[in-house]
Amino acid sequence: MNLTGARITSLEAPQATAGVGASSEDPAPAFAEDDFTRHIFSCLLQIALSDASVKGGTIEDAVGLGADDLEALAITFKPDILPLLNSRRRQPEVAFDEEEEQLLDLFMRFRSDTSRQSNWLAAILTRRCMSPNHLWQDLGLNSRVELGRLMREFFPTLAARNVLNMKWKKFFYRCLCEMEGFSLCASPTCQQCNDYNDCFGEETGLSRLPQKNN
Ligand code: SF4
Repeated sequence: MNLTGARITSLEAPQATAGVGASSEDPAPAFAEDDFTRHIFSCLLQIALSDASVKGGTIEDAVGLGADDLEALAITFKPDILPLLNSRRRQPEVAFDEEEEQLLDLFMRFRSDTSRQSNWLAAILTRRCMSPNHLWQDLGLNSRVELGRLMREFFPTLAARNVLNMKWKKFFYRCLCEMEGFSLCASPTCQQCNDYNDCFGEETGLSRLPQKNN
């Protein structure tokens, strides 16, 4: 996956709305900015290692990054896994299917900057959206609150669009529908929709990794 070459579609320009970052789920942050970034990337790597081990795939496939990016990510945020990475066969590239390409377009379009870590995060979110649990669980995070903070810090204008606090995966796919100019929704309004709980219900559950503070 060449992150710098991701296709950008015609979604209208992000709205720099007032209240960016506002959320009903938003308690006081548990991590300072740098610690939070280190924490989330550590979680992402740990859940990818776990899934690759359990499912028998490569770590690159689990995290959505080729070997060079995976190594650079580990050097930056979790160097203790380098011996493990270096002990196995490297996978230079990770292939994304059409659905993933569309999600990657969305995240690349709305990332807060063009830094390498923002690009990594766009690819990782894309790949982890393909997993079956709540997204925060499949990112290895401690709670949905942490996913909300991740979105506000790394994809602020996208997060600001989720004013009704939809489930994140549902929200991303709804954005894709808007980009393509159609809707999969069965009802004109969410309030009257039989699928309301699928889109807005709680995303509670246990973390897939041991709870930790850094
Ligand atoms: S609740 Fe219904 S109308 Fe609202 S986003 Fe979900 S499917 Fe669409």
